[in-house]
Amino acid sequence: MTTRVWDYLPEYGKERVDILDAVETVFGSGQLVLGASVRGFEDEFAAYHGGGHCTGVDNGTNALVLALEALGVGHGDEVITVSNTAAPTIVAIASVGATPVFVDVCEDDYLMDTGLVADAITPRTKALLPVHLYGQCVDMVPLRRLADQHGLALLEDCAQAHGARQHGRLAGTTGNAAAFSFYPTKVLGAYGDGGAVLTRDDDIDRSLRRLRYYGMEKTYYVVGLPGHNSRLDEVQAEILRRKLRRLDDYIAARNAIAERYAEGLAGLTGPGGLVLPAVRDGNDHVYYLYVVRHPRRDEIIERLQEHDIELNVSYRWPVHTMTGFAHLGYAPGSLPVTERLADEIFSLPMYPSLPRDRQDRVIEALHDVLAPR
Ligand SMILES: *Cc1c(COP(=O)(O)O)cnc(C)c1O
Repeated sequence: MTTRVWDYLPEYGKERVDILDAVETVFGSGQLVLGASVRGFEDEFAAYHGGGHCTGVDNGTNALVLALEALGVGHGDEVITVSNTAAPTIVAIASVGATPVFVDVCEDDYLMDTGLVADAITPRTKALLPVHLYGQCVDMVPLRRLADQHGLALLEDCAQAHGARQHGRLAGTTGNAAAFSFYPTKVLGAYGDGGAVLTRDDDIDRSLRRLRYYGMEKTYYVVGLPGHNSRLDEVQAEILRRKLRRLDDYIAARNAIAERYAEGLAGLTGPGGLVLPAVRDGNDHVYYLYVVRHPRRDEIIERLQEHDIELNVSYRWPVHTMTGFAHLGYAPGSLPVTERLADEIFSLPMYPSLPRDRQDRVIEALHDVLAPR
C-alpha cells in the first residue's frame, strides 16, 4: 500500500464518531449559516491565542484578502513578502490591487531573510507579510520594529503555523492581523475549506466582519465596499471546534515523527548529503511539512515511488518564476537562495496519524537510495 505524503483517512478512522457528531450538531441546530458553531469556534480560537478577536472566513486565501483590505492595503501599495510560499499568498496581494515585493530567504531554515526587508521599503510600501513557512515562525522582532518605525501594517501568513511559537509567543499574535487556513492538510484542518483572521484591533475586526458579509454591518444594509461572501461554513466550524481541542496533541505527534526522522536519517547527512530541517533559535516548530534537501531530489522522488512512498515538493516553482507573475519583472537569478532551494527541497510523509512502521519504511527507503549497502 502506498504511503502518501498526507492522508486524512487514518485520522478519520480514529475521530469518526466526533466528526459525525459535529455534523449532526449543526444539522439539528436550526441555523446553518453563521450560527453558534462559527461564533463558538471564533471565541475558542481567539482564546487559544490568549485573547483578541477571530473572524471565521471561507478559506485561507480570502483570510489574506480580507485582512489586507481591513488593513487598508489596495491599489498602488507594495507588500513585502517572499516568493517561496504557497501561490495564494501572492494571489491575495495581487487581487487587492497591490504589488508583491519579494525578498530572499535564509538558506538554513527557508524563512524570510528579515535583514533584507529595510532595503526593500519604499514610499509605496504599505505592509509586511511574513510567511511562517512549513511550521515555524519568521523572526518577528525586527519585523515588528520596522513596521512601527515606518508606519506599516504587519500581516502574518499563519496558514502553515497553527500553534507554532517563538520565544513562547504564538504565531499570529505579533502582527496587526494574522491569516489562517484550515484547508484539510493544515496543522488544524477542516473537512473541507475554512479560514480565519486573528486581530487584537477592534476596528480591524469590525471591518473583517463586514467584509466577509457582503459589506453589510446589519442584515440587508451595506455600509461600504468592498464586500464579499466569505463566511466560514457552520459545519466546518463545528468540526474545527472539536479538532482545536486536540491541536496540541496533533503538534506533539508531528514533533515525535520529526524526531524519529531526524534520528533515522542522521547518517545520511553531511557534505553533499541530505539536509534535515533546521529549527531557528527560540522557535517551537509544528512541522506542517517535514522538508529536506538533496541535490539529487528528482531522482530520489522517483526511486521512492518504486518503494511505494509518495514525496512532494512545496514548492517546485518560486512564485516570481511563474508566468502568471512575469509582469512583476523578476528575472531568473534575482532571488538566488529561493531559486537554489526550490531545486533541492522535498517533503517526507507527515501527518499526526502516520503509522510508525510507515515512518520506518520512509527512513529505510531513503537509506536504500542514498547509502546502499
Ligand atoms: C494553504 C496556504 C494558503 C491558502 O489557504 P487556502 O485555505 O488553501 O486558501 C495561503 N498561504 C499559505 C502559506 C498556505 O500554505
